[in-house]
Amino acid sequence: MTFRLYPNKQIEKSLRYHRKLHKDLYNCAIYNRFTQYQKFNHSVSYFEQQNSLPAFKEIWTEYKLINSQALQATLKRVDFAFERWFKGLGKRPRYKSIRHYSGWTYPAKSGYSVESNGENGYITLAKIGSIQMRGKAKYWVTPTTCTIVYRNGKWYASITIDVLDQVLKPDVLPINAVGFGMLRSTIKYKVEQIGGVFVEVPTKKVKPSQTCPKCGHQHKKTLDIRVHNCESCGYVQDRDIAAAEVMLYYAQGNLPGFGTNLVRVGVASRSEASRREDADVTSSTSRTRSSAGSMKQLGQMKRQKLNSTGVNVETHPSTFA
Ligand SMILES: [Zn+2]
Repeated sequence: MTFRLYPNKQIEKSLRYHRKLHKDLYNCAIYNRFTQYQKFNHSVSYFEQQNSLPAFKEIWTEYKLINSQALQATLKRVDFAFERWFKGLGKRPRYKSIRHYSGWTYPAKSGYSVESNGENGYITLAKIGSIQMRGKAKYWVTPTTCTIVYRNGKWYASITIDVLDQVLKPDVLPINAVGFGMLRSTIKYKVEQIGGVFVEVPTKKVKPSQTCPKCGHQHKKTLDIRVHNCESCGYVQDRDIAAAEVMLYYAQGNLPGFGTNLVRVGVASRSEASRREDADVTSSTSRTRSSAGSMKQLGQMKRQKLNSTGVNVETHPSTFA
């Protein structure tokens, strides 16, 4: 999420100075790579450049005031530019003028701190100062990375948070306290953030561990039976892998017996999900398994959406606790 920054005159000057230093380091790293290659036929790696930072700072002492990880992140940008070029995905890296240099990144939790509850607040940048920021985040926990961007005369802080990490970290939020509803909504959020599709499998109907992924035949297995061995079609597979296959095929609309029914079942699962919401929280793991989608799956889902009568396949938000 991006926040607009409102620096005062003095801090703005400092921001510009830091941006200039990062720009110079960027150009310097590009120069180093080209000359090493041209003169010595040597391909400079990211780690060589990273390891030379302390010596570099002894000569260019102004860089001592910049967070080391932020400097490394700028060298990483150079590395990405070369990697893209080598792979034929980008142009030959070029020196950048200050006008074309956007800013810098704090890749971890040092060098900056944020005072906010997700809406407005203040950001403090080491050696620069405290800056008022405005914006609103949908979800909010401790930020993990922060990128300072200058664009069209305005300053921004682009902050990332790792929701999933925070939820899964038992010391931060005990999983029982958070509840599976929160875990589910978090996974859904994460998946959609990276462009995937979240499909909740109605496990009451589909029964991943009791269903054959190849033929759809259902046969009850007790928990101690670790191998799926289909009495109908003879398919043998590890129990958990078979269950995962059932969920994958279901999400793709290829599960025998459920093949063309994704939309209908998906709708049915909504009311079922909301009905069972307050029924039993502890055993909800066995019922609400989820499958995250690839681009291919996204395409399939889109197609199915189009074929249906405009019904939304995604799980209804009302299942969130
Ligand atoms: Zn079978």
